Parts: sequence; C-alpha cells; structure tokens
Amino acid sequence: MKQLNLILLLFLTSFFACQNTDSTNSMTDTTEEKEHPNHTKLKAQSNEFIKELIQLGERVYMGVGYDGSNAAMIVGDDGLVIVDGLRGIGAAEELLRDFRKITDKPIKALIYTHGHGDHTGGAKAFIENPSQTRIIARAHFKEELEGNSPVKKMLIKRNIRQFGRDLADEEIVNRGVAAGRTPTDRAGKGYVPPNETFEDSLFLTIAGIDIELHAANGETNDELFVWLPKDKTLFTGDNYYKAFPNLYAIRGGQYRDVKSWGEAVKKMSQLPVEHLVPGHTRPSSGKEKIHKDLSNYSEAILSVYEQTITGMNQGLSVDELCAQVQLPAHLKDAENLQEFYGSVPWGVRSIFFHFVGWFDGNPSQLYPLAPKVEAEQMVKLAGGKKKIKEQFQQAMKEKNYQWGMQLADYILALDKKDEAARQMKIQALRKSAATQINAPARNYYLSYAKEMEEGK
Ligand SMILES: [Zn+2]
Repeated sequence: MKQLNLILLLFLTSFFACQNTDSTNSMTDTTEEKEHPNHTKLKAQSNEFIKELIQLGERVYMGVGYDGSNAAMIVGDDGLVIVDGLRGIGAAEELLRDFRKITDKPIKALIYTHGHGDHTGGAKAFIENPSQTRIIARAHFKEELEGNSPVKKMLIKRNIRQFGRDLADEEIVNRGVAAGRTPTDRAGKGYVPPNETFEDSLFLTIAGIDIELHAANGETNDELFVWLPKDKTLFTGDNYYKAFPNLYAIRGGQYRDVKSWGEAVKKMSQLPVEHLVPGHTRPSSGKEKIHKDLSNYSEAILSVYEQTITGMNQGLSVDELCAQVQLPAHLKDAENLQEFYGSVPWGVRSIFFHFVGWFDGNPSQLYPLAPKVEAEQMVKLAGGKKKIKEQFQQAMKEKNYQWGMQLADYILALDKKDEAARQMKIQALRKSAATQINAPARNYYLSYAKEMEEGK
C-alpha cells in the first residue's frame, strides 16, 4: 500500500510538472529548449534494446540488442534449437560466441518466425553443419517480400526514411522496436533458405525438446509462433513486441492482415505462458502479466479493426475514420501499446484501402482538383502567398505543425523552388518530429527535411 501511495505521489508530481511546463512554454515561448514528453518517452523506449543475453526458465537463452531483432537458443539433451537468425552475420556470430560460453552442443535446427530480413539475414552463422541442420519455416516463406517489386526504387527510398538510415547519430533516437543504429557487418548476407516447411501446425521433438509451431498471419503472411509446452515459453515472432503493432509500415508494402493478427495474438494469449520471447524488445516472465499483455494487444488490434469496419459500413470516409478511431480508454495507457512503432490511424487507412481501394465514397474525391489548381484557389482565397506565410507563422506559434506543413505544401505546389516555402516545410517537419512518440514518423519527417536541406 505504501508503495502504491509513493507511485501515486510520483505520478501526480510528474503530471503537475508537465502541466506547469506547458503553461510556462506558451507564455514565455521557450519551446525550443523544452523537451516534448513524447520525445522523453521515445528515448526511454531505447532501454528495450540494451544488449544482453537473458536466460528464461531452465534452458532458453535469448539475445537482445545484438542486432535489430532478437534470436534465441533452446538447449536440448544432445543439441540446440535456434529461433531466428538476426540480420547480420557479424551480429549473429557475436551472439553465437556468447551462446557457446553456455554450451557446446551442436545446433540441430533453426526456426524462422517469419521472412523479414532482420530475422533471416544472419542465419548462416548458426548453420555450422549445413547437411545436418533442419531449417524450418512456413510454406510460401518470403514470397511476399518486395525484392522484385516494380516500384523497388520508391520502396528503398521510403525504407531509408522510415528507419532514418541517413540521419546523423544525434538525430536518430531509435526505430521504435530496434535501436537507431544496428550492426552493418555482413548485414543480410547470411540468409539460408528453409529445408522443411509446413502449412498450419507442426509438432516436433528435437534434441528432446517438444516444440509446437503454429501458422499465425499478422505482420507477415508467413509468420508463425513457437510454443514449448514443457517450458511454457512462447516465441511470438513479430506479431508481438512492446509497442503498438505496425499494422501498416510507412515504407510501403502489402496489406498486413489485421484481423488475423488480432486473432493470432488472442490464440497466444490463451496459452499458459510463463516466458514470452518477442521478435523485438525485451522478454517478459510471469503468467499473469503475459496473459494481460497478450490479451491487451489482441483486443487493441481487433478493436481498431472492428471500429474501422463498422465506420465504413456507416458511410464514414477514411479521413473521418482516422479522426474517430481510437484505442479503448482502458488500453490507451497500457505500456505495451504505446505508438512507438505502429500508429492507430495508419492501421485504419490500411484496413479501409484493403477492402475498397482508394475511393472513399465521397463524389468530390472522384476527380479532385490537381494539387497545383487547388493551391491556386487556396492562395487566392487566403489573399496571396504573403497571407499564407503569415498564417504559417501563426500555426508555428500555436504548435500546429501539421497545418504548417499543409500551408507550406500549397505554396510548394505552385513553385517547388520557393525558398521561403521550402524553409517553412523544413521547419514544420523538424518541429513535428520533436513532438513524435512514433519513431518511424519522426525518422521520416527528419529524413525528408534533410533531403530538402540538401536540395534533393
Ligand atoms: Zn522484425
């Protein structure tokens, strides 16, 4: 009880401290120096990626922070099973060296939770004896990857922005579910294809370890989860990590099956899990906590899905839905649902477009004015470019950075080279970035601003 009072006191103190800070800001306009609370939270999320080899239960060891994702080792009677292969061979070799301090048993199998490069690109380091290592994944593994996409060039550019790959070290906080910088040593060079695949479920005993693999579409359509019934340990792949799920990746990609994702996590929540190993962020232990975390996660995903579907059937447009759909009140502050990586409105857009394509149902959107024509009308309506620029200053003062970006866009639609408008956009992007809890949004804003500053 004493502890509870202390927590309450700390909470109230920090709550009022925040309130005070905000009111001081608006009066004295010292926003430049004050750190936005979202930025503080995003920085704290980096604790999830501190490098550590963690033991869970009797015979599971996982490496956090060796690379952008997690990988684990299960120690059996006469051999080992590895779950996931990290992204870089260098990082995987380092983790293997640490695994080898624990045991010298041979690696009998490697299981891929899904086909994303950050979980497969370093696998080669773990395949010490290729002819005798079972490499297990789902059927149709890696089929959906964008490697052969006709818009590959665009995807690469957006990928660089989402992950802040060209940002300076001091600008990048993190990537939401990974550190801001991850190892580059032979990154992506060690993928080894599976030699064993399955469709729905697979029950195995390897080196005396009972293992269940279950297909679970979510972040990808080749995702699975690994369940060790005797160890009560669950490996979720990327269908769970400590951040709101990335229902849509702004780097671009195919539809992520939101409904299946929510149902997959629900299925996981029904298992008696004692230890949980996520694809990113730190593991957790304790049956009650894990059950609560997985239940929250599933409920959040399915709630976003249901609210969107209901709203669509009520005739709401995608933009109206983005403004309306929210996490249920009791989930908003859940520590595993903060929008460090995924973002609720991005999920809403993704679901909407998946079911009906681009047309939102409003006939005004059938043949909208071209951006330049609309900008001409808006600038005329405002009373000229000068007025728009004045409005921009007002928007900045009011910290309405989104409106600032949109105002800059009107002038840029008329003249991409308008220097004042370019500076407006850069300023709005940078200001907005500083208020973001969402790492991909922050990284994208800053990367785009940097490109503009470099005249790209
Ligand atoms: Zn991943």
